[in-house]
Amino acid sequence: MGCYDSVRATCPKCKTKVEFQTKVGPCDLQEYPETRVPPQIAYGMHGDTKTCTCGASLKILVSNPVTRVQMHVEEVVTEDEEGFGY
Ligand SMILES: [Zn+2]
Repeated sequence: MGCYDSVRATCPKCKTKVEFQTKVGPCDLQEYPETRVPPQIAYGMHGDTKTCTCGASLKILVSNPVTRVQMHVEEVVTEDEEGFGY
């Protein structure tokens, strides 16, 4: 089935819009402009290639890829334990 998301990017050679398709994301037939792609989809498409109608071989890349992100742990306090001080 045609289950994919796509990103519309501009060919640097002929300035035509080129559609890159990916099955990485939620596959809800969303189309994203190249400047606003959800991270999960962008990283999944990193390095994908396609040939433009002008003949140029294109590769889609994440600008300034982040390879590590900061996480932290937070204590989860349930309402029962928290109390309200009454
Ligand atoms: Zn082109």
